[in-house]
Amino acid sequence: MIILVVNAGSSSLKYQLLNMDDESMIAKGNCDRIGIGGHISHKTADGRKFEADCEFPTHTEAFEKLVEVLTTGDASVIKSMNEIDAVGHRIVQGAEVFSKTVLVTDEVIDKIDELRELAPVHNHAHALALRACKNVLPANVPQAVVFDTAFHQTMPPKAYMFGLPYEDYEQYHVRKYGFHGTSHRFVSAALAKAMNRPLEELKIVSCHLGNGSSITAVENGKSVDTTMGFTPLDGVLMGTRCGAVDPSAITFVMEKHGFTPSEMSEYMNKKSGFLGVSGVSSDNRDVNDAAVAGNKRAQLAATMLTYQIKKYIGGFAAAMNGLDAVLFTGGIGENSWEVRGGACKDMDFLGIKIDDELNRKTRGTLTKLSLPDSKVEVWVVPTNEELLIARDTLALINQNK
Ligand code: ADP
Repeated sequence: MIILVVNAGSSSLKYQLLNMDDESMIAKGNCDRIGIGGHISHKTADGRKFEADCEFPTHTEAFEKLVEVLTTGDASVIKSMNEIDAVGHRIVQGAEVFSKTVLVTDEVIDKIDELRELAPVHNHAHALALRACKNVLPANVPQAVVFDTAFHQTMPPKAYMFGLPYEDYEQYHVRKYGFHGTSHRFVSAALAKAMNRPLEELKIVSCHLGNGSSITAVENGKSVDTTMGFTPLDGVLMGTRCGAVDPSAITFVMEKHGFTPSEMSEYMNKKSGFLGVSGVSSDNRDVNDAAVAGNKRAQLAATMLTYQIKKYIGGFAAAMNGLDAVLFTGGIGENSWEVRGGACKDMDFLGIKIDDELNRKTRGTLTKLSLPDSKVEVWVVPTNEELLIARDTLALINQNK
């Protein structure tokens, strides 16, 4: 069973081809600069590579190119698209409409497109990619859509409502949705397996820390609260996103700078976070290097992040009335011992004690960092959203056979 996983952004189309017999990656790549030029980079599991500048006026041309690269030339891995059994798409916003993975129909695509108001950068691009995929693929190849928000649809209203007039929830669907759901679902299940305990009995705080970061309280396998909100801007400080800020500071800054709403959005999404506070970079490694070299603002940004993570771990432990495990994933969570160490420092009151030496050594591998006498287990759990999307797609196809 071969499944193609597609992750379409506004100007990019990432893909991965997986052999689901052993869940191995066959090939992966990225078409980017869609609409402003075009470029494809592609590599196979056995080390073959293809790279080229192209013309990608829309997602359709990008999709046609990836079909060509997968099926012809030196880095091809299949003879024709007929060898692909199904396609799974990552979709950012499913709102309250989609609480699980579904098969793609014309109505599903239209609905995803309609939700674009809630995810302007992503949902329209997803709809374009879905339509492109439908045009290019043989008609009998099923497609599934997996939503970033779906895992969080189990949150109770007390967690997802804002203290704004209720009418705006009813009319405009203003509420917390949460994101990175595919990752939180994948890593929490992988953690339960590693702990050799049923997921349905565990209280987990899942910290997905990357360019975008979110922390989720996973109780008995379900998301009960999460840090990202109406959009992926809320919660902890990120690469270029500000995270939680007093809303009055936003209107104040808008007035001071004379910003329009979209300029303010750019300021909060692209100019804030690590970049805005440190003035050095949006990248955790650069900020960390600058902090070690004595840069005060970089030191501030780094400690702001670990302090905020600590507060959410404590808050979510209180929300769940207990905590069995904390897990770290994402580019920062899997690789940065400094961030993990900072977030777990002085947390022994909560039953968290980690092996500092093991923490320093651990990069990107499933590892238990907590000491034997730590009441709460602490783990690094590598995420693999593409694999979960492929698994979901496969399960849905088998159900509908
Ligand atoms: P995205 O949210 O775009 O998927 P990633 O999950 O790839 O991002 O995370 C990117 C972040 O991970 C960057 O801030 C980067 O500095 C950080 N990172 C990656 N590798 C390391 C490493 N070895 N040490 C510290 N930080 C790392």
